[in-house]
Amino acid sequence: MFDSLKSELTRRTLLYKAGFGLITVSTFGTIGTILKPTRTLAQAGPAPTKEPSLPPEKKLGWAVVGLGKFATEQIMPSFGECKRSKLVALVSGDRTKAERLAQQYGVNQKNIYNYQNYDTIRDNPEVDVIYIILPNGLHAEYSIRGAQAGKHIMCEKPMANTVEECQAMIAAAKKSDRKLMIAYRAQYEPYNLAAIELAQSGKLGKLKAITSDHGRNLDPKDPADRWRANKKLAGGGSLYDIGIYSLQAARYITGEEPQEISAMSYSTPGDPRFREVEENVNFVLRFPSGVLANCTSSYGYSDTKRLQVFGSDAVLELDPATDYYQHRLIIKRKNSNEEQNIQEKNQFALEMDHLSESIMANKQPKTPGEEGLQDVRLMQLIYEAARTGKTIKV
Ligand code: NDP
Repeated sequence: MFDSLKSELTRRTLLYKAGFGLITVSTFGTIGTILKPTRTLAQAGPAPTKEPSLPPEKKLGWAVVGLGKFATEQIMPSFGECKRSKLVALVSGDRTKAERLAQQYGVNQKNIYNYQNYDTIRDNPEVDVIYIILPNGLHAEYSIRGAQAGKHIMCEKPMANTVEECQAMIAAAKKSDRKLMIAYRAQYEPYNLAAIELAQSGKLGKLKAITSDHGRNLDPKDPADRWRANKKLAGGGSLYDIGIYSLQAARYITGEEPQEISAMSYSTPGDPRFREVEENVNFVLRFPSGVLANCTSSYGYSDTKRLQVFGSDAVLELDPATDYYQHRLIIKRKNSNEEQNIQEKNQFALEMDHLSESIMANKQPKTPGEEGLQDVRLMQLIYEAARTGKTIKV
């Protein structure tokens, strides 16, 4: 997908000479001193595909399971920008909320399910794909039941609490001959795709190191954060929720799998948020090429979603790296800093359409269940490294 789209990219690269001092560049223009549009460093990121939207009757029908914060604020509105996917069914424990949202999104009231009659979705030919947006500890059960109902599955990250659950999900999808994709949105997002291309094409020189930091304050007053403090529902702490973005970034930027892992973790003593799940985990990954990735994950500091890639010729900074919109990518060289201004796209629509396209073409999605399993396996090893104080060979 990336190759075919990148030539259509709209990009403006901005440069400032080191001698000009610090200049602030915004996506919407420039603030500060002289900025010159200049040559581009990268063939970066996907542009809008010119393919037209399929007519509604040709789009695949999606059911969303769990109408919480992420589903209602990001995913459901994004169906409006999908070209191959449409929202046709809702699964919720709250009938009143589901009816209200069904009305808002034009979903037929007969296509509202609850967690008890969920399995009868097998009898609904309008539903091709089920999107699991439940607390992590429920991903395995509802993905497996969905696959057994004969539907393709998109499952939110992290894939599940344990390696065994991930394996059972993969097996269930295989048995039903259905696709299983993990919703790793950053792997469909233009700025991250640009960063991958820059890192893997040698445009930064030889890759030496990566740092990636993801943090936020867990807020017990936010209903969406309550289950995140519960080990059974969350699977783990900050690592499972947001540190997974640091881990993912290190893997997709290098295109390699880590060989060794070391880690430390810390939770503030007495903080009731961290009775069951951890607050902070710092981990180091050693990749076969020699790249070392320093990654951090926290539930105890202000919003951070940052990636730096250190090459022998240039350093790439993506900050924010994994937000929903308004990413910022800067390439720093000895005498110049260049900002890559890439056209933003709705990454949720891109990832949903990717699964629909994979189903239509009967091909493996780019982020299948095996990708989610690998992260869960690695996160378990990160915990083991932190617990034992030993460097773990993968
Ligand atoms: P919320 O708590 O806001 O939503 C979860 C929903 O699941 C609830 O609203 C509820 O929906 C349903 N649910 C069913 N059983 C339970 C239960 N026992 N406890 C709590 N909720 C239950 O969480 P989020 O939307 O923030 O997260 C949901 C999933 O999405 C998680 O896996 C998370 O990791 C992932 N996520 C991914 C993001 C990304 O960028 N890719 C960003 C944010 C979250 P109902 O009332 O309809 O039954």
